[in-house]
Amino acid sequence: MIIQLKASAGKAGLETVVSELAQDGVPRKRLDIFSGDTYTMVGVQGDVSKLNQDKYQALSMVKRVHRISDPFKELSRQYHAEDTVISLDNGHQVGRDLSLIAGPCAIESREQLFKTAELVSQAGANLLRGGAFKPRTIHRSFQGLGEEGLKLLAEAREKFAMPVISEIMDARDIPLFEKYQIDIWQVGARNCLNYSFLDALAEVEDPKPVLLKRGDHVSMNELLGAALRLYEGNHQVILCERGDKTADRVYRNVLNLNNVSYLKHHYHLPVIVDPSHGTGVRELVVDLGMAGVAAGADGLIVEVHHQPDKALCDGAQSLNSEFKAMVPLAKSIFSARQRAA
Ligand code: PEP
Ligand code: MN
Repeated sequence: MIIQLKASAGKAGLETVVSELAQDGVPRKRLDIFSGDTYTMVGVQGDVSKLNQDKYQALSMVKRVHRISDPFKELSRQYHAEDTVISLDNGHQVGRDLSLIAGPCAIESREQLFKTAELVSQAGANLLRGGAFKPRTIHRSFQGLGEEGLKLLAEAREKFAMPVISEIMDARDIPLFEKYQIDIWQVGARNCLNYSFLDALAEVEDPKPVLLKRGDHVSMNELLGAALRLYEGNHQVILCERGDKTADRVYRNVLNLNNVSYLKHHYHLPVIVDPSHGTGVRELVVDLGMAGVAAGADGLIVEVHHQPDKALCDGAQSLNSEFKAMVPLAKSIFSARQRAA
């Protein structure tokens, strides 16, 4: 439910509505208050079936009461029309600026991470990715450097002045992600519907933004349900489209760009496209990245390696100099889209 106040309501009018809601059993922490220059909206999270809409409509400072039918209400544009914007320490704003996240699939060594970070930072990336805990199909293959990887990533953040993102696979690693102040915590495709893990992340006391990847064949409703679980504890949720396996094994995965457009039309969270895992094929990454931006994405997450052929993980989809060529193309599509909006 959204309660829209009259322009004349002022602070006192807002306080009256907030205290009426408290009397009806809705605490302040279940309210989102959106204030613009000429309006104030009070969004009520969670179950509102017991609230009497007519009572609120009858209050003198209330202009309109809207009920929202969307089951993922708090994520919907009916509830919050503007894009969610997530500000990072270096001033980059996910959801407003074009986010170009790049770096190796897995952190392998200081030399590999720093050489790759230098390459992506000079090319114009504004965030650095690097996996320290790798969910590998075969458990005997390289699993990532673990804590040592996060330590190197934190060093790279300082050296290259770029916020960093890394995948967290287990709630037991939350203290490590806090220790190294990882700027965005990635939930990988395999954990997209791991509800107890998502709930543990939602309970983190001082949370960082979370990038939630859509798992293989996870539906829009399942993704939104997973995002809402996180959102209840942490409004800084970013969605990521990274494709599905199909019968055609020429590609590792096929991006579903319908999802990008659908999510951006109906929901206010930022959406990032991963054309690396979304194709699995190096020569397709730039084209599909551009297509993702054209479909409405707020940014891209791209695997780049200073020596892709020697990568311990996902070399076949990793870019090198191609990333440099991709940046101006993605930027020009993003600004064309902004001009058209
Ligand atoms: C990754 O980003 O390195 C990764 C493992 O991706 P996904 O969870 O999409 O497979
Ligand atoms: Mn990878």
